[in-house]
Amino acid sequence: MQQKIINTQDLAFQLFELHDVEQTLGYERYAEHNRETLQAALDLSLKVAAEEFAPHARLVDEEEPTFENGRVNMRPEVKKALDVLRDTGLMAAGQDYERGGMQLPAAVAQMCVGMLKGANVGTQGYAGLTIAAANLIMTQGIEHQQKKYAEPMMAGRFFGTMCLTEPHSGSSLGDLCTRAEPQDDGSYRLFGNKIFISAGDHELSDNIIHMVLARLPDAPAGVKGISLFIVPKILVNDDGSLGERNDVALAGLIHKMGYRGTTSTMLNFGEKDGAVGYLVGEPNNGLAAMFHMMNEARIGVGLGAVMLGYTGYLHALDYARDRKQGRPVGEKDPNSPQVPLIRHTDIRRMLLIQKAYVEGGLALCLQGAMLVDEKKHAETEDQRQLAAGLLDLLTPVIKSWPSQFCLEANSLAIQVHGGYGYTREYPVEQFYRDNRLNPIHEGTHGIQGIDLLGRKISMAGGRFYQELMDRIETTIGEARDIERLAPCADRLGRAVKSMAAATDAINAEKASGNLEKALANASLYLEAFGHTVVGWLWLRQAIKAMAGLQGNSEQPAEFYEGKVKACEYFARYELPKVVSLAELVGAVDTTVLGMQDGEF
Ligand SMILES: Cc1cc2nc3c(=O)[nH]c(=O)nc-3n(C[C@H](O)[C@H](O)[C@H](O)COP(=O)(O)OP(=O)(O)OC[C@H]3O[C@@H](n4cnc5c(N)ncnc54)[C@H](O)[C@@H]3O)c2cc1C
Repeated sequence: MQQKIINTQDLAFQLFELHDVEQTLGYERYAEHNRETLQAALDLSLKVAAEEFAPHARLVDEEEPTFENGRVNMRPEVKKALDVLRDTGLMAAGQDYERGGMQLPAAVAQMCVGMLKGANVGTQGYAGLTIAAANLIMTQGIEHQQKKYAEPMMAGRFFGTMCLTEPHSGSSLGDLCTRAEPQDDGSYRLFGNKIFISAGDHELSDNIIHMVLARLPDAPAGVKGISLFIVPKILVNDDGSLGERNDVALAGLIHKMGYRGTTSTMLNFGEKDGAVGYLVGEPNNGLAAMFHMMNEARIGVGLGAVMLGYTGYLHALDYARDRKQGRPVGEKDPNSPQVPLIRHTDIRRMLLIQKAYVEGGLALCLQGAMLVDEKKHAETEDQRQLAAGLLDLLTPVIKSWPSQFCLEANSLAIQVHGGYGYTREYPVEQFYRDNRLNPIHEGTHGIQGIDLLGRKISMAGGRFYQELMDRIETTIGEARDIERLAPCADRLGRAVKSMAAATDAINAEKASGNLEKALANASLYLEAFGHTVVGWLWLRQAIKAMAGLQGNSEQPAEFYEGKVKACEYFARYELPKVVSLAELVGAVDTTVLGMQDGEF
C-alpha cells in the first residue's frame, strides 16, 4: 500500500460486504451505476487525494494563509488541487448528473470526500463548505437562487461559507444578533460581526457566497427569530456576471492549532451601507433550514475525524513495522538483533486500539450515509420515516464518537512513534492537531450529548431508540449462533441492558421535571451510547468476517482474522466501559452538578 490514507481492502469490505452499498443501486436514482462505476469513482478520489492533496498538506500547515493589503495569500498548490477536484467532477460527487455531479450513492459520495479529508483536511475544507452551502440553497432556496448561486458553486466557480457564529454567540445560537433590514426591492441589508468563519475569504474562486444567519427587525427572541440569507462577496448580476463588491469586510484571520490550510476569518457585514443579502426560505425559519443540512454535514464531520484517525493509524503501522528497537521480553542476549516495534505487545495494543476505533468509526459513518439514502429513496413512506428517525437519533453519535475516539487514535499514533512522533518531522502530530477541531465545531461535544439525551432518545416516544436497540439485539442473536462470536455477543448484550437501565432512569428523572439533574452526565451517556453502537457494528463486521473465513471470500483470510480479533478486542476491552458509564448515568450521579463555583 503506497498511500497511507485508507486500507482499500477495508474500504471494499465495509462498503460492499458490511453495508452492501450495491443494494442502493435498486433505487431509481442510482440505476445507471454498478459496482465498477462506484469503484471507479472511489479509485479516482483516492488518486486525487494521494497525488494532489496529500503532497501539500504539510506545506499549508507550515505556511498558513496570511492577510496582506486586504488580500488573503496562500500556497498555489491549494488552488491547483481544487481545480483538479472540479475538473474531475469530484467536487459534486453526490450531485445530480444535470448539475455536473456523479449522482453517487451517499456512502460512496461521502467516501470520495472522506479520502480527501484524510489526505489534506485544510484544502478539502474549501470544497466541503462550498458543497454544503450549495446544498442548502438547493434544498431551501427558490429556483432563481439555485441557478444564480448554487449552480456556479457546484461547478466550482463560486465557493461558499456558513456564517453562524458571533463573538458572543457560539453554542448559544439563539443569542446571535446580526440584523437584516428589509429594502423596498425585496433584498435586505445586513449589519453584524461573524467570527470563526471557515473559508470566509481567499482568492481561490471568482466569488464567495456566504450563507448568513441574522435577525429581521421584529423577530422573536431566541432560535425562533433567526432567518437565513445569501450574502455574496461580490454582487451577481441577473445574467450571472459579477457586479460591485458587497459590504462584507475581512476583519482579520484567526491563527489556529490545526486545520491551518483553511482560512478562519472574522467577517464584518455592513461597515458602510449594509451588506446586500437575499432571504432564503421563510422568515424566522433560518436555523431550522440550516439544520436541515446538518445531518449530512455532521456525517461529514464524523467521517473527517475517522479519516484523520485512519491515516494516523496507517502511518503508525508503517512506522512500527520499520523501526527497530529493543528485544522481546525475556530475550537476554544483547548481541541478538533488535526487533521491529510491532514485535512489542504494548505497540500491538496501541495499534489494535487504533484499528478498533478507526475501522469502527468508519462503519458508523457509513451506516449514517446508508440511512441518508434510505430516508430519501426507500420504497414505502414508513421505511423512509424510520430511516429518517434512526438517522436523527444517530447524528450526534456519528458526529461525536469519531471526534473523541479517532482523536484518541491520533494520540496513540504519536505514542507509537515515541519521541519522533512529537516532532514536526513526522505527520502524526499534525493529524492530531487537525483532528482536535472536530469535538468543537458543528456543535461541541457537550451540546451533542445534551441533544442525544435531552431530545433524541425520546423522539416519537422513544420509537427510534427502541428500533435501534432491537436491531442490535437481532445481531446479538445471530452472533450467538457462531461459537467464536458468542462471548462478544454476550458482552454487547450486557452493554445494551445497562444502557436500557440508564435510559429508563433518565427518562424518569426528565419526567419529574429536573432536567438539569437528568442531563448532568449527558456527555458520558453519549460516550456509552456511541460505544454500544460501535460495538454492534464491530459484531456485524465479525459476522461477515467469519463468513469470509469460511470461504466465499473477497479478501485474504488474514484480513478477516484481523476483523474478528478487532471485534474481540472491542468486546473485551471497550464494552465493559459502557456498563460502568451507564451505571453512573443511571444513578443520576450529582458529583459534578453539585460542585459549586467557589469550590474549584
Ligand atoms: C477552526 C474553527 C472553524 C469554525 N468554522 C465555523 C464556520 O465555518 N462557521 C461558523 O459559523 N462557525 C464556525 N466555527 C465556530 C464553532 O462552531 C464554535 O466555535 C462552536 O460552536 C463553539 O462556540 P464557542 O467557540 O463560542 O464556544 P462556547 O459556546 O463559548 O463553548 C465553550 C464551552 O462551553 C460549553 N457549553 C456552551 N454552552 C453550553 C451549554 N448550554 N451546556 C453545556 N455546555 C455548554 C461548550 O460545549 C464548550 O465546551 C468554527 C470554529 C473553529 C474553532
